[in-house]
Amino acid sequence: MSDPERTLRVDRRRFLQLLGAAALAREARSATRLRVVVAGAGIVGASIAFHLARSGASVKVIDREGPATHASRASFAWINATWSKQPHSYHRLNQAGVQRWKTLQPLLNLPLRWGGSLEGNADASLEAELVRRVAEQRDWGEQTRLVGSAELSELEPNVDFSGLRQVIHSANDGATDPVAATHAFLGAAVALGAQVEHPCELTGVGMSAGRLVRVQTSRGEIPADRLVLATGAAADAGKMFADWDVPLREAPGATALTSPMARLVHRVLWMPGVHVHQRDDGRIVLGEEAGPPQDEAHALRLHEHPDDFPAREIALQHAERMRAAAQRFLPAFQRAEFEGARICWRPMPLDGYPVLGVSPARPDTYLAVTHSGVTLAPIIGELVAQEIVDGRRADLLREFRPDRRFRELAP
Ligand SMILES: Cc1cc2nc3c(=O)[nH]c(=O)nc-3n(C[C@H](O)[C@H](O)[C@H](O)COP(=O)(O)OP(=O)(O)OC[C@H]3O[C@@H](n4cnc5c(N)ncnc54)[C@H](O)[C@@H]3O)c2cc1C
Repeated sequence: MSDPERTLRVDRRRFLQLLGAAALAREARSATRLRVVVAGAGIVGASIAFHLARSGASVKVIDREGPATHASRASFAWINATWSKQPHSYHRLNQAGVQRWKTLQPLLNLPLRWGGSLEGNADASLEAELVRRVAEQRDWGEQTRLVGSAELSELEPNVDFSGLRQVIHSANDGATDPVAATHAFLGAAVALGAQVEHPCELTGVGMSAGRLVRVQTSRGEIPADRLVLATGAAADAGKMFADWDVPLREAPGATALTSPMARLVHRVLWMPGVHVHQRDDGRIVLGEEAGPPQDEAHALRLHEHPDDFPAREIALQHAERMRAAAQRFLPAFQRAEFEGARICWRPMPLDGYPVLGVSPARPDTYLAVTHSGVTLAPIIGELVAQEIVDGRRADLLREFRPDRRFRELAP
């Protein structure tokens, strides 16, 4: 934690003023500030922009549509380092992500709800494995345990846990509103002097003697020393702007959102088939475990990578499917009214792990493409800024570099 952070836990405005002053002091010390363009204003690009700005870089964020218009708009937004985050190196990165959210929350007024998660298992064949994973979680520093039915009815009185064989409680988890969080990071970056421009599409890069000198955009050229590609699931961005192919998996997903309701659930519920959490504004977020229905009509629709359902009725049909799954655990959910449902494409590298690091083919271009990007955004922002501005390589990122072999598919 930096000195300004340590001193200023209490007052966000004063914290930003001091950070700004620190950035200016750094600027005065160095004749020229590093000029960094961040392409992509999702939650990952926004956090990187904030951390770069507080490290003294001159930052410009561009997005071809607008902040949080893609994966960061539709995300379920569970913040966690649970047992499925394997292996240990990936778990450690997620743990650092959870911790960084907690550090930044009071400083940036981030919209977070903590309280942990409950993961239900209805599959007898998984029981022994999950007992082992719970023990492993504790070895890895998590507050994780199996919870019995008496305690469950106290923890979540509105949830029917019958039919489940095990329920795992992970106390450190939380959830956010990813759109509001993206705007909070961008707002803090702007307070430190960053500029945000949209719609503004990255279209090319200008090089001189092998080094980046400018980026080309739909709104003209921007002088730049470094480029960060936080372009999410835009599959060709690596090849086009970093001379480096980041192999991605097709990974569409959908979430649904209700109108505000009186409090029904207190924690993130990860139940067989459906995930649920309720924000502080009363809205319930639903996500589904399975992908889209496997039929020809859906295959045809998904072929074009749509960012919206073709019509509100179709969005609501998907929401109703999630309602049916949720009602099995949450009978009172039948009263819920949907505001809508969203489809999005996860930035999912082929092996399921983040791609974070300088392009091996372009020393001034940094790749930042990841799933679990809501959990990871704050720690990625901090470490990427450290690598770009201070040139210190982050050990936590060692296994997630762009030049690894993308062979093994994560479960
Ligand atoms: C249904 C669903 C559920 C999820 N659930 C969770 C969860 O519970 N927990 C979790 O941690 N993660 C979850 N994720 C993953 C997480 O949401 C993503 O990893 C994260 O949002 C990625 O953020 P991003 O900023 O990298 O990408 P995005 O939010 O997709 O942003 C990329 C941006 O780049 C812009 N862009 C692309 N190309 C260009 C260009 N050429 N020029 C300018 N701009 C460009 C786009 O317009 C876009 O705004 C989920 C994802 C989905 C889809």
